[in-house]
Amino acid sequence: EKLLEVKNLKKYFPAGKKGVLQAVDDVSFDIYKGETLGLVGESGCGKSTTGRTIIRLYDATDGEVFYEGEDVHGRKSRSDLKKFNRKMQMIFQDPYASLNPRMTVKDIIAEGIDIHGLAKTKKDRDNRVYELLETVGLNREHANRYPHEFSGGQRQRIGIARALAVDPDFIIADEPISALDVSIQAQVVNLMMELQKERGLTYLFIAHDLSMVKHISDRVGVMYLGNIVELTTSDELYEEPLHPYTQALLSAIPVPDPELERSRERIILEGDVPSPINPPSGCRFRTRCPHAMDVCAAVKPKWQEAREGHWVACHLYDEEAVKQNN
Ligand code: SF4
Ligand code: MG
Repeated sequence: EKLLEVKNLKKYFPAGKKGVLQAVDDVSFDIYKGETLGLVGESGCGKSTTGRTIIRLYDATDGEVFYEGEDVHGRKSRSDLKKFNRKMQMIFQDPYASLNPRMTVKDIIAEGIDIHGLAKTKKDRDNRVYELLETVGLNREHANRYPHEFSGGQRQRIGIARALAVDPDFIIADEPISALDVSIQAQVVNLMMELQKERGLTYLFIAHDLSMVKHISDRVGVMYLGNIVELTTSDELYEEPLHPYTQALLSAIPVPDPELERSRERIILEGDVPSPINPPSGCRFRTRCPHAMDVCAAVKPKWQEAREGHWVACHLYDEEAVKQNN
């Protein structure tokens, strides 16, 4: 069952005389209720912008987002916006920057409770905060302290408690563990997975590293230069990647079996990621793709379901495009 439908979403930013930065260019995908959709790509590929545009921190340049069939971006009345704010929450990458240093943990967590009028009395408000702290593995003694008194992992727990305070259905987690020590990362991921089970949450989990999302994601989408180039179940993506970019990313992840590791071919991509201000014509990956054909410069690859539930944007899987090339 679909929770969210993203259709042809675009987010452009003006870039002065140079033109327009096409941060997100025509991405379409669904998110199902209760799943975790991983969104992966190098920094600057548009994954954070996609998340922020979905949740309406940015206005979309074009395209639509439907939440349980309702158009999110078309709604303008205050009460409508408030309703969506409550359903969709965000956890940010940097737990140092995303918590107001002058607010106590209690006030940080209670902000959403106050905005949405979820507590009738001060005591009710306090109790909700204490409960949330316990839910994320902290306790009520932490409520009157300030963010700087906590470790990175604890701060991210506070960020999670803040997101949970309004009882959302959908959480966008924008690289929630990237800034944390490796030893802490698994703890935060496990907490998120437990909370998902208990509360039936749906996640969009953004990361720059495929190995990071494998464990938590049901499905994974791969982004390159403002486009989603491939999307399928986590297992299928790791076992049978179709897009040349995904294949290269996966080949860079070491496998634990040394025998297998030696026999594996590492795909090294030439060159750098081009600028999103004047991206390459046709397929944006063509300047680095080991399989690029003439048609790749002329025609933008279609976003198509190559196999059931396995979406890819690459001419190699489009018979007509290959014919056109010959
Ligand atoms: Fe490579 Fe062409 Fe496929 Fe793009 S469309 S990934 S350039 S083969
Ligand atoms: Mg980012």
